[in-house]
Amino acid sequence: MKSLSIFGFTGSIGSQALQILRKHKEQFSFEVFVCNSNVDKALEVINEFNPKYIFLSDKIAKEQLKNSLSAKTEIFDDISDVITYLKSNPSDIYLSAISSFDCLELTILAAESGKKLLLANKESLVVYGEVLMNFIKNSGTELVPIDSEHYSLMNSLNNIEKDHIDRIFITASGGPFVGQSRLEIENKKPEEALDHPNWDMGNKITIDSATLVNKCFELIEAKYLFDLDPDKLEILIQPQSIIHSMVELKDGSVEAQMSLPSMIIPLSFGLLGEYSDKTKKDFSLDMFKEDVKLTISDFPKDREELIGISKDVMKNGGNRGLIFAAVNDFAVKKYLKGEINFGEIYNLIFQHYSKIEKKEILSLEDLRDNQRKILNYLGSI
Ligand code: NDP
Ligand code: MG
Repeated sequence: MKSLSIFGFTGSIGSQALQILRKHKEQFSFEVFVCNSNVDKALEVINEFNPKYIFLSDKIAKEQLKNSLSAKTEIFDDISDVITYLKSNPSDIYLSAISSFDCLELTILAAESGKKLLLANKESLVVYGEVLMNFIKNSGTELVPIDSEHYSLMNSLNNIEKDHIDRIFITASGGPFVGQSRLEIENKKPEEALDHPNWDMGNKITIDSATLVNKCFELIEAKYLFDLDPDKLEILIQPQSIIHSMVELKDGSVEAQMSLPSMIIPLSFGLLGEYSDKTKKDFSLDMFKEDVKLTISDFPKDREELIGISKDVMKNGGNRGLIFAAVNDFAVKKYLKGEINFGEIYNLIFQHYSKIEKKEILSLEDLRDNQRKILNYLGSI
């Protein structure tokens, strides 16, 4: 039996993991489940899975949960209690699926555990990738990327020598506004941006997908996960979300990894530790028997500045990933509150990425200190 902790259990990734676990309950003991404020969903899951411990970041929600909880599950008061507990009682498997870098401490704990980390929380790699990967390597933690592009790359790169690679492409669906220019999408409403054609994900990542910022984060994610040369990394648009990555060898031949767009595939591999034939039953690419069209196009030229920022983050590190993620986060929140239009997300990123002071980040304290400064700066604009 494997012990399992889930950070972000009420979200889209968390819920899909639980959908798999529901069929394999006898193989797992559920340790610490963490979310922010979704009390109703948390109660539902606690009653079904009986985790030993639970933690909610939001204080009001935590009190509300305490009053409604009848199960045996105990509630941790503070994130430091979660860390203390897991340091002396490490789980065999951690799923890191919180949608921001607010709980980076938990991903660090899992990275240092020497156990198995299923990493969906891409923000942690964007803002702290180098250090995090060092923790993972030094502690011998087994890492499974829970992002379709990186899961597919993991499978390709397991079988290809790095010296033989010329370029690596990760693909983007392009989201709901694929094929439209920056001018055409300038005033798109949140309900339009949230209407993703292929993926059912949390709000933040769905907006990032519509702006293509998500794909830029994924370039950075790929660089750190697989220690790749930033100059070899590129993005292509593949609107059907069937091809997730392509590795071009030096002789021009290309290995593409394909699957139906579903996070159940990487999650099943991570949780069950095997390429399960049960997964294939639901996600077989039988679609190729039909006359299916796969199309590929270039990353839109009018948003190439985003690629420039991503390359700067990958090549120069320091607080650059934090600046990119924090300004984007700030802009997306404003957009979802109706305070700015869609096009303004780009303007805010381009304007303030270059303005904010660049510096080294040597520790988590450094990172938090710099995050506070950036947020103060953003609050004043
Ligand atoms: P959701 O918005 O659906 O869920 C986010 C989860 O994080 C919820 O459980 C939420 O709790 C929790 N959470 C948010 N903030 C905090 C906090 N401060 N403290 C504790 N818990 C918190 O996001 P997704 O599941 O879509 O995405 C999760 C991560 O996975 C992201 O990093 C995303 O980029 C990545 N990812 C997602 C994919 C997808 O298909 N969804 C694909 C690839 C990567 P609550 O519900 O209480 O708010
Ligand atoms: Mg992805």
